[in-house]
Amino acid sequence: MRKKYFIAALILAFLLPSCGGGEEYRKTREIMGTYVTITVARGELPEMVVRGAVRDAFEEIERVDRLMSTYKPESQLSEINRLAGIAPVKVDPEVLETVRDALDVARRTDGAFDPTVGPLIRLWKIGSEEARLPTSAEIEKAKELVDYRQVVVDEPASTVYIKKKGMALDLGGIAKGYASDLAVSLLRKRGLTGGIVAVAGDIKFFGTRDGGRPWKAGIQHPRREGGLLARLEPGDAAMSTSGDYERYFMKDGVRYHHIIDPATGLPARGLISVTVLSKESYLADGLSTALFVMGPVRALAFARAHPEVEALMVTSEGRVLATGRFSGMDIEAVEADN
Ligand code: ADP
Ligand code: MG
Repeated sequence: MRKKYFIAALILAFLLPSCGGGEEYRKTREIMGTYVTITVARGELPEMVVRGAVRDAFEEIERVDRLMSTYKPESQLSEINRLAGIAPVKVDPEVLETVRDALDVARRTDGAFDPTVGPLIRLWKIGSEEARLPTSAEIEKAKELVDYRQVVVDEPASTVYIKKKGMALDLGGIAKGYASDLAVSLLRKRGLTGGIVAVAGDIKFFGTRDGGRPWKAGIQHPRREGGLLARLEPGDAAMSTSGDYERYFMKDGVRYHHIIDPATGLPARGLISVTVLSKESYLADGLSTALFVMGPVRALAFARAHPEVEALMVTSEGRVLATGRFSGMDIEAVEADN
C-alpha cells in the first residue's frame, strides 16, 4: 500500500510544478485496494458540474470494484467462481464486457495473459501477509486449473460460465484499466475537455489542460523509489505499467512478485518493468501484464508486430527495450541485481 501511494504521489508531484496556480481540480480516493486520482481541467464549466462529474467518475470505478473484485464475496465475479463447473451466472454488461475483453487479450497473447490465473494467485497470495513459497506439487495442481478456453461467455443470455470446478477468474490484470476507461468516458460525456484518471499504474489521459497545454506523464523507475525512468506527453492515450517492485516478497535473495507466468506457475522472469501505451486503458493494462509474462524476446517481437501499442521495458539485467515513441528517447540503463 505504501508503494501504491508512492505512485499516486509521484503522478501528482510530476504534475504540480507545471501547474501555474493549481487550476486543475483533483481528488484522490482509495478504491480497488489502491489510490485512484482524478485530475480534470475546469474549462468553462461551473464548479458544481466539475465536482459532480468527478464524483460520478469515482462512482464508476467503485462500481467496477463491487462487480469484479475477487476480495468481495458478494461480487458477481466471486459468484462466477463459486459456480464454476456448476452453472452459468447472469452478470451486468460491464462484467460481460470485461471478461470478453480479458479472453480476447488472452487469445491475442497466446495465454501469456490468462484471466483464469485465479488458482495460482490464491496459492501465492502475493501482496498479503500470508504470501509464501508454495511446493512444486501445489503449483502443478493449481496450474492445471488455469485455462482461459474453459470460460464461456454467452452474450445474448448475458452469462459467464467456467466449465471446470476449482477454476477461478481473476481480473486484477485488466479491471483497473477498464475502470479508468469507464471513468474517462463519463467525464467526456459531462463535457469535460481534459483530464487524467489514474488507478495506480493504470492511467488514462484525455484532451488537454486549460489553455490547450498537454498533459505530462512520468514513468516510475523500477529500482529507484520516487525516481523517473522516462517522461512523455501521452496525448489522448492510456498508459499502464506492470512491475515487480510493488507487490512482492523476498526469499533467499529471490524476488517473488505478483505477475504469474501461467506456463510455469511461477512469477514471470526476464523483465522487471513494462509500460504500454495504447488507445484503450483495458488493453494497455492487459498487455502490460502479458508482455511482462512473455519476457524480453517475445515481448519485443510482439510490440514490434503491433504498432498500435508502444512499449517501454526493462530487463532483469537492466537493459531498456523500447518501441514506438519510446524508441526515440534517451533512457539510461537500470541497475538491477534482483
Ligand atoms: P497491478 O495490479 O500492480 O497494476 P498488473 O496490471 O500487471 O499489475 O496486474 C497484476 C495482477 O493481474 C495480479 O495481481 C493478478 O491479479 C493478475 N495476474 C497475475 N498474473 C497474470 C497473468 N499471467 N494473466 C492475467 N492476470 C494476471
Ligand atoms: Mg495489467
